[in-house]
Amino acid sequence: MEHVRCTLCGADQPQELCRVPEDRYLKALDIVPSISVKVMCMRCGHIYGDPQLDNGEIDRLYRHLYRSSALGYTGEAAASAGLRWKQAKSQRDYAWLTRRRPRTASGTALEIGCAEGLFLSRLATEGWRVVGIEPTLEYAAHARDTFDLEVLETPFEEVDFAGRRFDLVGALAVLEHAKDPVDFLSRIRTVLHPQGTVFVTVPNVLDLGDFSDDRLSSPHISLFTPDTLRRTFQRAGLVIYEMGPLGDLLAAVGQPAAGTAMARLETEVPSARRVRRAIAGARARARARRGRAKLRSAARLSLARVIGEDRTARLAARLRLRDADLGSFPRGQP
Ligand SMILES: [Zn+2]
Repeated sequence: MEHVRCTLCGADQPQELCRVPEDRYLKALDIVPSISVKVMCMRCGHIYGDPQLDNGEIDRLYRHLYRSSALGYTGEAAASAGLRWKQAKSQRDYAWLTRRRPRTASGTALEIGCAEGLFLSRLATEGWRVVGIEPTLEYAAHARDTFDLEVLETPFEEVDFAGRRFDLVGALAVLEHAKDPVDFLSRIRTVLHPQGTVFVTVPNVLDLGDFSDDRLSSPHISLFTPDTLRRTFQRAGLVIYEMGPLGDLLAAVGQPAAGTAMARLETEVPSARRVRRAIAGARARARARRGRAKLRSAARLSLARVIGEDRTARLAARLRLRDADLGSFPRGQP
């Protein structure tokens, strides 16, 4: 872990927003104490982890640990439930993007952090020529073997595109993992056609939805409100032309800012108090949800005593199908 200055403005004026006392990623990395802390820069409003994972720890986390049993992944059953959920989510993401990107003609697309390749394979089905980047080896292998996709395992920052440009660059639930989000987005701008589209989703720190503590954990080095996301795009020479909720994330589509006439940077710092209140609210709702889940599990046990385990299992499976809800992942996912 390392202390860093604000990557957006260089100031060293952090004010603590919240801490996660038992961060499971830090535990898996043997980092003690396993506490992750999020702060807000009092000069520019950027929200980031301080201290945060250093490059060696990040490499260790994504290459091998990220989807391993050390982090609670327990083989096929969990993986396939997760995959079905992700498949549905990819359809939804694609539909959201298509509605906001009127020029639906397919072209070339790059997805940074393509995971199992579900979103990318959807694009490929629609005629796009696609490339993925995915540092987690298991994911990259899945994307290649299942969908026959071109997937690079090199981190985005290190890929040499040799002047290659794309009509669409997607980074879904990725920007929050970046140590320097302005640098990350600037690099996206350099591989976009001047009329190209960038499609990004991130957790909204003002509306964390389910799994708030996972969203606040150490792999999420940078967090955003709608305002700070817009500002981060601006600093990278990109303009957001549409932004809105997508599931329990915040989605934005943008394009390179035209010419040199950059809009004046907004300088208003968001209220740390407002962000703290929003985080506390999300955590309280998550606690209530866990309480309800405990009750359901107790009810299930009692039912099993009366009608037997087999019938209870069948009934539970049917109910779960009916409850299929894209808003919540079957396992906590950052
Ligand atoms: Zn700052």
